[in-house]
Amino acid sequence: MQKIKRLADAYRFPGFRVLARLKGRFGDPKASRIILKRRRKKTICGTCGKTCRSFYDQETRQVRDLNCGDRRIYLELSIRRVACPHCNRVLQERLDFLAKNHRYTQRFAFEVGRRCARSAIKDIARELHLGWHAVKNLEKEYMAEQLRRAGNPAPKQIGIDEISQGKGQDYRITVSDLKRKRPIWFSGPDRSAASLDRFYAWLGPKRASGIKLAVMDMWEPFRLSTEKNAPQAAILYDKFHVLNHLADALDEVRRSEYQRLADKGDQRFIKGQRYHLLAHWANLKYSGRQQLKQLFAANKRLNVAYLLKESFEQLWDYERPGWALKFFLNWRDALRWQRLKPYEKFARMISGHWRGIEAYCQPENKVSLGFVEGLNNKTRVIQRRAYGLRDEEYLRLKVLTMTLPLI
Ligand SMILES: [Zn+2]
Repeated sequence: MQKIKRLADAYRFPGFRVLARLKGRFGDPKASRIILKRRRKKTICGTCGKTCRSFYDQETRQVRDLNCGDRRIYLELSIRRVACPHCNRVLQERLDFLAKNHRYTQRFAFEVGRRCARSAIKDIARELHLGWHAVKNLEKEYMAEQLRRAGNPAPKQIGIDEISQGKGQDYRITVSDLKRKRPIWFSGPDRSAASLDRFYAWLGPKRASGIKLAVMDMWEPFRLSTEKNAPQAAILYDKFHVLNHLADALDEVRRSEYQRLADKGDQRFIKGQRYHLLAHWANLKYSGRQQLKQLFAANKRLNVAYLLKESFEQLWDYERPGWALKFFLNWRDALRWQRLKPYEKFARMISGHWRGIEAYCQPENKVSLGFVEGLNNKTRVIQRRAYGLRDEEYLRLKVLTMTLPLI
């Protein structure tokens, strides 16, 4: 970026000088044109970067630049092509102040990208008098640059998450660097071990051997792939996913109770309580609590299921594996005679994955689980918003840049 001391410096581009400023542009009275005249004779090949003495042809183009006040600014300059002897082809010249798409300056592309981080493409397009696709492509260019500047990751702790895409077995895997707090890999098409293997292949064996901890859902293919490609890494099943499984179990109990009561013709208290049941007691408003109290007075099984769900979170407060185990065994014992089939299934799953759950008690495995959950939630929001665009690369860039600093 050039240093701007005087206002005129804002339009000093290397190799050019300002010849004239003109008002208006065809069909756009709110525009101004700045005519640039070329000073340099030599032309640089855009592909190999070598200097050529001559050029092949040139064409006058209007290049959109940052707005100035309420005026839309266009630079008018000749853009050349070179017959590069090194590349042995006719190619676009390199002008560093232009974006990849030579119809915009780079600083304009970055401004569009920065704005898109906060607003919808549609709004930016209307504000800047651009097409929707043009804005989207500029944002993609901006995000690619953000990603390039962030450098190659060499993560010590990774978080692996899967999100379902649409209906059926269509999944995307997100891998995050938990220390640097950013997603580093996003891909599909499913959540198989083979798909996660591709992450480790991308990372390479050297960097994979630096991973100390892998945080994930209780999902066999992820564990198998990680044990194969990063055998030294400790595996930790994170609270977010474990509690999700428990919430699913509670929802299953709710549905079967609903069915049972519906058969009796009395669903007075259970109707419309799904949201309240899945929420934390502490987060409920007065009316929500009253409705649940009524429901629990009428239905003991749901009452027990709710209390067990609320207490399970304590598991992550213990500092010693032994204490955590004791808590879990007590919790499991409380299931006896309650006929909560989905809970029993959940307890079996926890028993089967115990090593990866107690791992959180080890001091070297303390990761911010709040961050993992926040990242997962944020990814889901982005996915939901970007889903309609049907642009896989856009979605990938959007996820990978969501925690990166703006440029
Ligand atoms: Zn070349």
